[in-house]
Amino acid sequence: MQFSDFGMTDDQKALCNSVSQLCARYPEQYWRKLDDGYEYPTDFVNALTEGGYLAALIPEQYGGMGLGVIDGSLILEEINRAGCNAAASHAQMYIMGTLLRHGSEGQKEAYLPGIASGEIRLQAFGVTEPDAGTDTTSISTRAVKKGKKYIVNGRKVFISRVLHSDLLLLLARTTPKEQCARKTEGLSVLLVDLKRAVGDGLEVRPIETMVNHQTNELLFDNLEVPAENLIGEEGQGFRHILDSMNAERILVASEGIGDGRYFVEKAVDYANSRVVFGRPIGQNQGVQFPIARAYAHIEAARMVRDRAARMFDAGGNPGQEANMAKLLASEASWEAANACMDTFGGYAYAKEFHIERKFRECRLLMTAPIPNNLVLSYLGEKVLGMPRSF
Ligand SMILES: Cc1cc2nc3c(=O)[nH]c(=O)nc-3n(C[C@H](O)[C@H](O)[C@H](O)COP(=O)(O)OP(=O)(O)OC[C@H]3O[C@@H](n4cnc5c(N)ncnc54)[C@H](O)[C@@H]3O)c2cc1C
Repeated sequence: MQFSDFGMTDDQKALCNSVSQLCARYPEQYWRKLDDGYEYPTDFVNALTEGGYLAALIPEQYGGMGLGVIDGSLILEEINRAGCNAAASHAQMYIMGTLLRHGSEGQKEAYLPGIASGEIRLQAFGVTEPDAGTDTTSISTRAVKKGKKYIVNGRKVFISRVLHSDLLLLLARTTPKEQCARKTEGLSVLLVDLKRAVGDGLEVRPIETMVNHQTNELLFDNLEVPAENLIGEEGQGFRHILDSMNAERILVASEGIGDGRYFVEKAVDYANSRVVFGRPIGQNQGVQFPIARAYAHIEAARMVRDRAARMFDAGGNPGQEANMAKLLASEASWEAANACMDTFGGYAYAKEFHIERKFRECRLLMTAPIPNNLVLSYLGEKVLGMPRSF
C-alpha cells in the first residue's frame, strides 16, 4: 500500500527509495534469526554505513552527507517500515551531535571523519544509572580531575551497543550536586575510548532484555580518561546533551512511525486475505476500525514529527514539538501494533509471522530514551505552565 509522501522533495523520495532497496536485502527472516540468537545485525549495520546513511547528519566538510534531521528521520522511518530495526545503529547517527555542537575544532577533525566513514563507531551513550533512573541530575558516577586525566568511578545501567562501539559518550558528575548553584550544573560529558577502557577500569556486563538491544551494565573502577576528551565546558554537560536529546526524540519518533506503518500494512494485507465465516476478516468493522484508527494516529504523529524536524533544521530548539512527536509516535505505533496483533489472531504469536518481534520492539519507545510520563511532565510544566511536580 502507498503511504503519503506529501511535502517530501524528490531527493527525499529517492533517499527513501534507496533505503528501502537496501532493507529488502535484509528480510524479516534475517531479523528473526538474530533475535533468536540475541545477535547484533553486523551485516545490516555495515551496509547502512557503506551507503553513508548513518553519516546523514554529519556535515560534508567532515565526510558526511550534510543532511537535516528531517532526512535522518526519513531514513530511520523507512528502515522500521521495512520490518528492520533501526535501534541497532540509530545512535551512530545522532550521538555525534553533542560532539558536533560542543566539541573543539580539533576534536571534530579527530573524530567526525572516522565516524562518517564508519571506521569509528560512536554509538554508545552513557546516561542512565540504577539509583537515579530518569532523575538524570542525581547521577552519582563521578569524574574527578587529576592532572591531565579524569578518574571515573560509578555505575551505569542499560547502556546499549557498548560492545559494538569504539567510543562511549559518558555523562558524569564533575562537581558534587551540593556544591552547584543549580542541580543541572556540575555534570560533564567525556568521550571514552572503549577499546582501551574495557578491562582496564571499565567492566561491561550484558543485560538480557525482551528485545535484542545489546544493552549493558557498566562498572567504572578508577577508569582513566584523558582530560582532552572532555566535550564542551566542564560542568555544562547536562545542557550539552539536552541539545542532542531533541534530535534524538525526533529520530526515535520516526522509528515509531515506521513501525506504525509496518503494522498497518501487515494488518491490512492480512485483513484482506484471511477468510473466515465466508468473507475476508477486514470486511468486519470490528477488525477494520482499529486499523483505520491507528493509521490516522500514525499519520498525525508523522505531521508533528515533520514539524519538529523542520524546526530543528531551521536552527530552532523545538523541545515542545520533539517531545510531542515522541509521545504521539510511541502511542500510535503501540496502537497499530495491538491492532495488528488482533487482526492476526493466533497467528500473531507464531514467530514465522514476525509480528511478535516487532510488537516487542516497538513497546520500548514508550520507555526509552525517556518514559512518556516524563514527556507529559515536560509538556504540563514547561509548555502549559502548570506547577512543577519534582
Ligand atoms: C532496552 C533499553 C535500552 C536502553 N538504552 C539506553 C542507553 O543506551 N543509554 C542510556 O543512558 N539509557 C538507556 N536506557 C535507559 C532508559 O532511558 C531508561 O530505562 C528510562 O529512561 C527509564 O529509566 P528507569 O528505568 O530508571 O525509570 P525510573 O526513573 O525508575 O521510572 C520508572 C517509572 O516511573 C515513572 N516515573 C518516575 N518518576 C516519575 C514522576 N516524577 N512522575 C511520573 N512518573 C514517574 C517513569 O515514567 C517510569 O515509567 C535503555 C533502556 C532500555 C530498556
